[in-house]
Amino acid sequence: MNAVRIADILREKQTFSFEIFPPKDELPVEAGRQIVSELATYGPDYMSVTFSAGGSGNSEHSIDIAAHMQDEQQVTALAHLTCIGSTREQIAHNVKELTSRGVNNILALRGDRVPGQTEGDFRYASDLISYLKEQDVCVGAACYPEGHVECEDDARSMEHLKMKQDAGADFLVTQLFFDNELFYRFREACDRARIKIPVVAGIMPFTSESQVKRMAFTCGATIPARLIKRLVALGNSPEDLKKAGIEYACDQLTDLAANGVDGLHVYCMNRPEVGKAARDALLDCAYLEA
Ligand code: FAD
Repeated sequence: MNAVRIADILREKQTFSFEIFPPKDELPVEAGRQIVSELATYGPDYMSVTFSAGGSGNSEHSIDIAAHMQDEQQVTALAHLTCIGSTREQIAHNVKELTSRGVNNILALRGDRVPGQTEGDFRYASDLISYLKEQDVCVGAACYPEGHVECEDDARSMEHLKMKQDAGADFLVTQLFFDNELFYRFREACDRARIKIPVVAGIMPFTSESQVKRMAFTCGATIPARLIKRLVALGNSPEDLKKAGIEYACDQLTDLAANGVDGLHVYCMNRPEVGKAARDALLDCAYLEA
């Protein structure tokens, strides 16, 4: 398919999109393709695929799956690309692999630090963004409604975000959050910081108490009291927890849709039923057209 630039879609409409991760370890890439084809039936404007920091593990699968989204499913792909621990040559190789296969939307990320990992030739995501803009691709970047977990000063966090825009980022996708009020406050802070590129809200359903706790520590995500109460009420039933997690995420999506948002990105965790529930909720509230 002719690759569309996500920045152009965002100029035209409020977007609806999904994130998946490539199959890990012994799982065949075919499993990822199957998930993509199921999610494609729910009509996303684009789908993103994550990339292992350091280019290790399944990074080739990420590129394959991004190409598959476009070639087989006619869905615009957003390929994540991390720079931590990578040389300029490795990044150039991956960008060439992507663009030669028609993938010209890249989410530029530093990647999470792994103990003992070397920095690589690009220190921050903003350095990678500058490089990618020279390659004429449409570039997205990560943003953090509650600030990045490594940065204790919110004002500095906002300055670092502004650097991504100044380096040429075309749009932003947020880290997951469980409290929409914090997203609304973040948008106001972006306005004050003259960050004008579209901000796509990323929502992930919770699946268990341990996952929520992990998110609080790895991402610095606030857990609102109403979410804690729901977890306590549900106890240990995995099925009830999954169902409640999807319902909570759909409530967040509906509220965001009602409050005007540039786009909604659903962290599907490779579960097509999450994408379907999100699509249905957004049809019900007329964010999406039937
Ligand atoms: P950066 O923007 O480089 O920021 C990293 C830290 O450095 C921050 O604390 C920031 O405040 C600070 N900083 C930035 N610029 C400067 C500067 N000039 N001077 C001093 N400090 C500075 N990880 C993966 O491994 N694979 C993925 O596919 C992936 N996908 C993601 C998708 C989204 C939407 C999001 C929100 C995150 C994703 N991540 C992924 C996680 C991400 O890699 C981590 O959050 C990582 O810790 C930071 O990445 P970044 O691109 O925001 O880094």
